[in-house]
Amino acid sequence: MTVQVSKSVTAIDRINLDAPIFDPGAFRLNDEQAGIITTARELGQTVFAGRAAAYDRDARFPTENYRDLHRAGLLGIAIPKKHGGLGADYQTYAIAAAEIGRYCGATALTWNMHVCSTLWSGPLADDLDMDATTRAEHERRRAVHYKRIVEAGAIYSQPFSEGGAAAAGGVAFGTEAKPVKGGWIVNGKKIFASLSGHADYYGVLCTEIAEGEKASRRNTLYLALPAKSDGVSVVGDWDPLGMRGTVSRTLLFKDVFVAEDAALMPRGVYFQAAMRWPHMFLTLSPTYVGLAQAAYDFTVRYLRGEVPGTPPVKRRMYPTKQIALAQMQIKLEQIKTIWFQAVTEARANPAKEQVLRAYAAQYSVMEGANEIATLAIRTCGGQAMLKSLPLERIYRDSRCGSLMLPWTAELCLDRIGREALYETGESDD
Ligand SMILES: Cc1cc2nc3c(=O)[nH]c(=O)nc-3n(C[C@H](O)[C@H](O)[C@H](O)COP(=O)(O)OP(=O)(O)OC[C@H]3O[C@@H](n4cnc5c(N)ncnc54)[C@H](O)[C@@H]3O)c2cc1C
Repeated sequence: MTVQVSKSVTAIDRINLDAPIFDPGAFRLNDEQAGIITTARELGQTVFAGRAAAYDRDARFPTENYRDLHRAGLLGIAIPKKHGGLGADYQTYAIAAAEIGRYCGATALTWNMHVCSTLWSGPLADDLDMDATTRAEHERRRAVHYKRIVEAGAIYSQPFSEGGAAAAGGVAFGTEAKPVKGGWIVNGKKIFASLSGHADYYGVLCTEIAEGEKASRRNTLYLALPAKSDGVSVVGDWDPLGMRGTVSRTLLFKDVFVAEDAALMPRGVYFQAAMRWPHMFLTLSPTYVGLAQAAYDFTVRYLRGEVPGTPPVKRRMYPTKQIALAQMQIKLEQIKTIWFQAVTEARANPAKEQVLRAYAAQYSVMEGANEIATLAIRTCGGQAMLKSLPLERIYRDSRCGSLMLPWTAELCLDRIGREALYETGESDD
């Protein structure tokens, strides 16, 4: 695995690098973790930050960033070392993703969909129950996916959402996989499918359902459907408020044949993961930790008169600015602390307290990032929200976090309230 990026990164020597969001010494990260996270931060700051405005303006997928992520080894960040990846654990990935999100929200969010394809089929699946034969078969299959990513830079996405209750975990996915000789025939529709038209494989969540059977969440399959398969189409336009570079259009599947080897998890394992490894759904949050940090960083620089491209006017001497900045710093530290603890606790069968903390962390990050960005705009003022500066993009991108299923801000509140008041199996009926 070569860890190098495109030539433009030579600019790194001339740039004053930002301090890490999580200082390795203060947060007790080891050298290997710190190395991977530093690679992400430097790539984000020196390369992705400069491209972010154009992807946002044109609602264009960050293809160039993906080439750089591949060159840096970061497409395989969570792929085990024996398969040629960097072998990062959940916590390392999450912090690296926050660093990417600090410089380009759309790249971090789409990279999350890609990385989860490897994190869930990798370290997460290793934590779950499988008999020896199933595990050996899974090992053989995932090696095929990992080779494509490490060697050829293949990009994977994760279309779950269908516009009904399935993505929130309420009912079985409406996208169906009918078993046939050598694989499945898939039919269905996914909305908000980030990386549509740009991923090489769509990691589709669907329900395996034989003729006459009733759909059940237990029969969820997780299949890497080749994007170029017959019967796959990308439809609809994409002109949203924020996260515009994610290109989250609609995917249609019409009688698409998917071979057995496409399975990213064996039968029953996705359902087991959703029940036993809840932090799998916290992985959308790192992007927004990065956006919260970015809004704060911008405000400090702006008030000091140090934002490139703006006049060197200082505004830091006003007490109201100082108080607002203090409020932002307190909010940022609250977000960082609960989130760091939650990502450190990711594992199979977490305690109830840890699950509640994961929901609380997701809520704090998704709502908090936008609160910080809102304060940043109010504090920096009119000139700071012009499209020539990144703050207004950070503000719009940060608004999207609490809409992400299955852990939207509303659903986190729902779950915390219910699960804190009721033990498993309890009811008032
Ligand atoms: C930028 C962006 C990128 C995205 N990328 C992807 C992607 O790559 N893959 C993917 O699968 N999805 C993706 N999504 C989709 C996202 O996860 C949601 O599915 C989508 O935002 C839901 O929109 P909706 O209007 O259909 O929500 P609805 O299902 O209509 O829900 C609306 C709101 O109601 C609440 N709600 C929903 N269900 C319940 C319930 N059972 N009980 C109580 N309240 C409920 C939630 O708070 C939700 O926000 C993306 C979304 C955005 C904004």
